[in-house]
Amino acid sequence: MTNKEYADFLLPNVKHTWEEYEAMYPERNLPEGAIVTRYAPSPTGLPHMGNLFQNFMSMVFANQTNGVFFLRIEDTDTSRTVENGIEKILDAIRPFGINFTEGAISETEYKGEYGPYIQTQREDIYKAYAKKLIEEEKAYASFLSKEELEEIRLKQSANKERLGIYGRYAKDRNLSKEETIERINNGESYIIRIKSPGSFFNKVRFNDLIKGTIEMPENDIDEVIIKSDGLPTYHFAHVIDDHLMKTTHVIRGDEWVSSVPKHLQLFEMLGFEPVKYAHLAPLTKNDNGTVRKLSKRLDPEATLAFYPENGIPTEAIMLYLATITNSNFEGWLDQNPNGKISDFKFDFKKCSSSAGTLYDLPKLYNISKNYISRLTKDEVYDAALDYAKNYDEELKDILEKYPDYSKEIFNIEREQKKPRKDYEKYSDVKGQIWYMYDELFEKYRDDAGYDFGSITDKDEIRNIINTYIDKYYNDNDDKETWFSNIQKLCDELGYASNMKDYKENPDNYKGNVADVSTVIRVSLTTRSMTPDLYELLKLIGKEKIKERFNLI
Ligand code: GLU
Repeated sequence: MTNKEYADFLLPNVKHTWEEYEAMYPERNLPEGAIVTRYAPSPTGLPHMGNLFQNFMSMVFANQTNGVFFLRIEDTDTSRTVENGIEKILDAIRPFGINFTEGAISETEYKGEYGPYIQTQREDIYKAYAKKLIEEEKAYASFLSKEELEEIRLKQSANKERLGIYGRYAKDRNLSKEETIERINNGESYIIRIKSPGSFFNKVRFNDLIKGTIEMPENDIDEVIIKSDGLPTYHFAHVIDDHLMKTTHVIRGDEWVSSVPKHLQLFEMLGFEPVKYAHLAPLTKNDNGTVRKLSKRLDPEATLAFYPENGIPTEAIMLYLATITNSNFEGWLDQNPNGKISDFKFDFKKCSSSAGTLYDLPKLYNISKNYISRLTKDEVYDAALDYAKNYDEELKDILEKYPDYSKEIFNIEREQKKPRKDYEKYSDVKGQIWYMYDELFEKYRDDAGYDFGSITDKDEIRNIINTYIDKYYNDNDDKETWFSNIQKLCDELGYASNMKDYKENPDNYKGNVADVSTVIRVSLTTRSMTPDLYELLKLIGKEKIKERFNLI
């Protein structure tokens, strides 16, 4: 029996040869230096912030070289695949503006010339290449049963040996074709393993684009390439797919670093050009002084749903991810406050090569706050409404009922050189402006409670606000007149109308202009901290101000 016939016997009914597959996946026509990279999730659960970070990085490197960033679903471990796993992945990352140039777009569809992009739909391809290895006597059928494997594992553990099928444990490695055929004909089940050409005593060196030069022992394990269900293992599928899909760079979590010797060996055995690797350390968090891994279980910010649920703008998240991708991004952004991420040149050398990348939510909020403060009133209105449509019906109703009025509220201290920074996320909006709407004011004012500050006597408070509204407040006053009226009110009632006088002779006064303003502000809003009082009063208008003052 020729090797070719033998390969056909071990893996029958394979539709195409590996040569045919080579022809079906031609080189890409891309500019020099273009990076082709991918996100290759397994549909075993929801992607998390670490995955988004990886996606962001992959996307910017592909974009800045006019390359390709594609999505491939790695679902060959069917026992771990969850229901609607692909849709769940797509839904979770959709809100973040990650653009895949090509790849899976649902369980059944994909775009691009290098598909299918779902590994279970590529079974024939992997087998074609496994047959190539069998023909070249670089792979073999292995009959080790579950029980035998377990026995080997226990023995290796007891002897403190490396785990795996290598050397004397690779018992079927030298079975003859005849013996193998006979056992198969007797109904024994088998899988395909490589005949690893490596030695544990040799070293393999490779350059990780982030971590630098890494040296490890060669792989000498007869890794499984085709499992008993006919599907490939991760290692084999990675090498075949990234070869055929013309991936240039694999950016992935650093839990895979230890597998690189296996992967480089497979590339070599198959006669493929290896990819370049960039392994990312996990995101970490400073938890009261202890730096630990960001955890989906402990940290809400580790899950992707957290961001849309809180209305954190995607643009701010992207800016933050850019700052943790390259340490010099932040300085660049300070120099170019209106700079776009796409204007910055990212460099693998500037990626953090330490054991973890610190993920700092307060810093993200700070970026977000600055970002929102620079938006126009219309942009904030639209974004807040978008958020509210999904997560806050009451806010949605009120924004839709009063669009122009709402925009005027958002416009307070906005669209100016130093805009006010009220919101770090759209879920802050209602809590900051509810008192501007009568419906919400009535509903929430009691719970909010009034804290008038240093002036506590109710009659005095009433006296201040009534005198103010009757004698000193006009909707049409400009800001200067408005303020001089507040000062007149102070003079009339025995409060210092400027702070300097007050500081010099506090005993001559009942209080000062700040105390009086607080009484007006709190009576109007319940809040002692608000945006510009003059603007609030004007927007609410004299009639309604009166009504609110009458409630005190
Ligand atoms: N499916 C692998 C995982 O989810 C992908 C690793 C890779 O990017 O190659 O970890």
